[in-house]
Amino acid sequence: MRLTFENRVAVVTGAGRGIGKAIALSLASEGVHLVCVSRNEASCGAVAEEIIASGGKAEALALDVGDSAAVAAAGKELTDRLGHVDILVNNAGITKDGLLLRMEDSAWEDVIRTNLSSCFYWTKALAYAMARKRWGRIINMASVSGLMGNAGQANYSAAKAGILGLTKSVAREFASRNITCNAVAPGFIETDMTSALTEEQKKAALANVPLKRLGKASEIATLTTYLCSEEAAYITGQVFTVDGGMVM
Ligand code: NAP
Repeated sequence: MRLTFENRVAVVTGAGRGIGKAIALSLASEGVHLVCVSRNEASCGAVAEEIIASGGKAEALALDVGDSAAVAAAGKELTDRLGHVDILVNNAGITKDGLLLRMEDSAWEDVIRTNLSSCFYWTKALAYAMARKRWGRIINMASVSGLMGNAGQANYSAAKAGILGLTKSVAREFASRNITCNAVAPGFIETDMTSALTEEQKKAALANVPLKRLGKASEIATLTTYLCSEEAAYITGQVFTVDGGMVM
């Protein structure tokens, strides 16, 4: 099936590695102009260069997605300069795991700010311009941890569950402006985030995965690209689980 992307510009956060990089490359292969956002210039810069080298349009933007003022300024600069930003993929995320009784306030606050508040900041920064154009796609990267909870991830699960409520509220609030908002909830995907898990933790995780393997970043990117396309116009406020059957 051919997907339609008419002169679209996309901001993808956490595009320097893993799932975000796969999404950026996938959207770029559809002709979308990419703004690749990550913490480090080196990681988002390398992805933007890879897109340009293969004939696509891309630029890099290094900032902390949890910095409200920096995101607001970046949103204004991008919409002023490019004229439109049509697609927002809020994918940047971190983990700071620990059992609740030992979790420092800073681990709670950092994970909520980076994973959840960032989605609010970016949506606020770009939704007005999307609304004026009467077209927009917002995809928020959640997690099965936000659906099921996970011992040792109170902060991360709370942030990801918060993303689901934000997604549904944004979907309702902006539907009349032809902006859709959906969430993707990956299970265990092979990236730097999961390479930090011990073999024992991976084995325990896979015991609950009927398809008995980790997912690939490209498998999240394919669905996300579809949700960003013209063809997904009648889908909003939904959560799509891509987890090898872990949550049914
Ligand atoms: P990853 O490989 O660790 O990459 C994370 C990306 O986010 C990096 O590009 C990083 O920037 C960027 N980032 C982190 N904090 C940032 C900040 N404060 N400001 C700007 N950029 C920031 O992660 P991943 O596994 O691809 O995960 C991507 C998303 O999927 C996350 O939201 C994660 O929670 C979610 N998810 C992942 C899995 C999984 O199994 N991997 C499962 C469920 C959900 P730098 O490159 O500059 O460091």
